[in-house]
Amino acid sequence: MSVQQQVDSLIAQVLRRNPAEPEFHQAVREVLGSIGPVLAKRPELAEAKIIERLCEPERQVIFRVPWEDDRGEVHINRGFRVEFNSALGPYKGGLRFHPSVLLGTVKFLGFEQVFKNALTGLPIGGAKGGSDFDPKGRSDREVMRFCQSFMTELYRHVGEHTDVPAGDIGVGGRELGYLFGQYKRITNRYESGVLTGKGLAYGGARVRTEATGYGCAFFVEEMLCARGESFDSKRVVVSGSGNVSIYTIEKVHQLGGRVVACSDSSGYVVDEKGIDLDLLRQIKEVERGRIGDYVAARPDATLHSEGSVYDVPCDVAMPSATHNEIGRAEATTLVRNGCIAVGEGANMPTTPEGVEVFLQAGIAYGPGKAANSGGVSTSALEMQQNASRDSWSFEYSEQRLREIMTNVHERCRATAEEFGMPGNYVAGANIAGFTRVADAVLELGLI
Ligand code: GLU
Repeated sequence: MSVQQQVDSLIAQVLRRNPAEPEFHQAVREVLGSIGPVLAKRPELAEAKIIERLCEPERQVIFRVPWEDDRGEVHINRGFRVEFNSALGPYKGGLRFHPSVLLGTVKFLGFEQVFKNALTGLPIGGAKGGSDFDPKGRSDREVMRFCQSFMTELYRHVGEHTDVPAGDIGVGGRELGYLFGQYKRITNRYESGVLTGKGLAYGGARVRTEATGYGCAFFVEEMLCARGESFDSKRVVVSGSGNVSIYTIEKVHQLGGRVVACSDSSGYVVDEKGIDLDLLRQIKEVERGRIGDYVAARPDATLHSEGSVYDVPCDVAMPSATHNEIGRAEATTLVRNGCIAVGEGANMPTTPEGVEVFLQAGIAYGPGKAANSGGVSTSALEMQQNASRDSWSFEYSEQRLREIMTNVHERCRATAEEFGMPGNYVAGANIAGFTRVADAVLELGLI
């Protein structure tokens, strides 16, 4: 069998065994589509069934989450934790609370996380979890009751040396506080390293909140620099307006770029003077409001509820909302409008067709598992601080993040070059991440 036939048959097997999970299929195809050259060079990987092992989670937990709203009505949600691979360290990855969350969503995210975490070079395995709970419109007390119920089951599966969840869409500082409080109460252990993204008041790490956005900006800066460019005076479009988007905007502005548009599920705003970050944070983080409120306070800005944020001409696009937000049409518009770099703050925000457009056009395209790895990397730094009962300064932590992102970029760049695909960060990230985790799996024997 040729390597291509081997890969095709492996993909067919994943599709057959995991029906009705399109995002998981997409993520598997994406990674397996890149690793043919490694399999050709190293037949021992196929012989040891490394791909089959990487595509099968080590453990999948699904549980009921009952809770009561403020009116006393009972709700039943579903909780998930997919512990994908622990060859490189404890399972590590966030929790997503969003009504769209299904098992297949968590599997796609967990699968991506394995390779992302491997790519960072840090000692962390891969996992993801979450629930179809929708925190939008819920009171703090409802969110607290939900988190307490969620942790009442989850606590038995996690631990600082076992599995270390963090945030993702719908899970931020507030939720992590409630989750940690309940874990501590149930276990009677002050085990700081069981969760990351914690508040600074109880064992959190500086720069963790900012890390995904900052890291993505650093990664894009490296890609631009590799092409003799910089952020200086670049027009930048950021999708979303949550944690990743906010700190992407902050760092892009610090690096000399100007973010002219951002969005939420209700539409997007264009502000040619540059997004006013204080205002955006007030609306999104304090008031938990809609993007339309931004325009009410900034008369020069415009609100658009039709089309997409990618219709706004830009030099750099940083998709930071959610998966599959850039299809062929959006990618084509970006390229036609002169976009030279795309750095993904979200996980898998570009469809395979969109990725093809970027690669064909030869623009600098940094896939999420490389570009957004600053978040989980800083989580690993939080684990390190917790383990040594230490707390680092903001400057030192940011410096460490910056070094990690430079190394991730260099790993992708050098690997792509080594395998004859210079400038292809998709191939570079997938091959480098895969190789590191595959080597560890191989050395651990048949487990
Ligand atoms: N949810 C983030 C990600 O997609 C962070 C995970 C973590 O810090 O464990 O990488």
